[in-house]
Amino acid sequence: MLKQTVLSCIMPTGEIHLGNYLGAIANWKKLQSDYTCFFGIVDYHALTDQPNPVQLRANRDSMLIDLVACGIEPNVLFIQSRIPEHTELAWILGCQTSYGELSRMTQFKDKKQNIESLKNQKTANCGLFTYPVLQAADILLYHSNLIPVGKDQVQHLELTRNIAERFNHFYNTSYFSIPHVLLTEIPKVMSLSNSEKKMSKSFGSKHYIGLFENDLEEVKNKITGAVTDENGVDNLMIILKAFCIESYKEFNLMRLQGILKNKDLKDKLLSILIPFLENLSTRKSEVIANKEKYLDQVYGSTEEIRKTAIKTIREVKQITGLY
Ligand code: AMP
Repeated sequence: MLKQTVLSCIMPTGEIHLGNYLGAIANWKKLQSDYTCFFGIVDYHALTDQPNPVQLRANRDSMLIDLVACGIEPNVLFIQSRIPEHTELAWILGCQTSYGELSRMTQFKDKKQNIESLKNQKTANCGLFTYPVLQAADILLYHSNLIPVGKDQVQHLELTRNIAERFNHFYNTSYFSIPHVLLTEIPKVMSLSNSEKKMSKSFGSKHYIGLFENDLEEVKNKITGAVTDENGVDNLMIILKAFCIESYKEFNLMRLQGILKNKDLKDKLLSILIPFLENLSTRKSEVIANKEKYLDQVYGSTEEIRKTAIKTIREVKQITGLY
């Protein structure tokens, strides 16, 4: 049976944290055996944050290395900016998207508000406004059927579906298949210092665990010092569940019986987390030792994946009258 196509992307914004791993990368690892996967390192999207060139290049290469170290096969990875058809299709799809629907995207509203609240004279750029159209292009370029998204991206996938349907209707074609959300149990990991906030690098180092942190003592301190209000314990339990379902069940039972000691929960978590991080670091050193080989493999797979993109653009140009 023909495998269904899954597409998922990650922005190269620097260090990967535990939330990224459990919320996205661990899921990719499972998906790559059951589906035809395309996993993009989306550097065009990263431009919306206006990184400096040195930073962008470094982040792109380190993301690639980190993903391979995490167990993602190099041959399913691609570098978005090496496939200019992404932006070409985004332009065409943008002409089927209304200003109103982009204005309603809550991520844009949130990001715009964040930028303006910084009072550093920066304003939200157009890339930030139109990036959901580029996302639609990322998806439709490969005729992806299934998109594993977190709750915060559901609105963007709905937009992609609307754009695809509108394109099909306008050009009286059934060219684009309409993608679906791939529902998988993806944990949302909260900050270790503020259990109301999602784990993110933006709030400072105490809030997250970097997947490749050098100083494991520091990781221990972060777990030992993690907040243990109701949500905080929920969060530690979510992390435990993601790593070891048996231990989770055991600790959950203790919690239900009211005999759970937070220190025991943290110790358990550390006994799993520290060897996991150590293994990852070892794997990363191996990948770095063969860096050129892995970079070449991903650039090679990008060339291969681009063939699908070129075919799609040619067909879209025929449909739209550009050819
Ligand atoms: P970002 O770097 O925020 O673009 O996130 C990259 C991927 O990691 C996306 O699939 C996010 O949904 C996921 N992700 C980011 N932060 C978390 C978190 N705290 N918990 C779970 N998933 C997350």
